[in-house]
Amino acid sequence: MAAKHLANCIFCKIIKGEIPSYKLIENEFVFSFLDIGPLSRGHALVIPKYHGEKLHDVPDEYLAAALPAAKKIAVALGAENYNILQNNGRIAHQEVDHVHFHVIPKPRASDDEG
Ligand code: 5GP
Ligand code: ZN
Repeated sequence: MAAKHLANCIFCKIIKGEIPSYKLIENEFVFSFLDIGPLSRGHALVIPKYHGEKLHDVPDEYLAAALPAAKKIAVALGAENYNILQNNGRIAHQEVDHVHFHVIPKPRASDDEG
């Protein structure tokens, strides 16, 4: 399915380069960048290049590309401990209404932060 963007969506603007981001990965289906409010060093987001508010709004081929991108980021970060998180709806803590997968490294307690 062809990519779909929404004019007033901040993540669609990031995909289009209208809002700057620290890009990590981009391919036909997904775009990945560092979270502006990181919960830990390396906290990244993977978003489909298809505007869908919730998981069930996004075509399978876009979703299928998200986890390999998250995996690549985890490997590149050398993260031994990390969470992959994806929120749907306000009650479930979704703030940005464009599907996104968080990659959140969990540093050891002995590390500087976390
Ligand atoms: P949610 O709570 O919707 O699952 O997470 C939204 C995430 O998007 C938050 O972690 C927030 O820091 C991040 N975020 C919101 N606006 C921007 C932005 O303009 N740039 C970047 N890089 N991250 C953003
Ligand atoms: Zn969007």
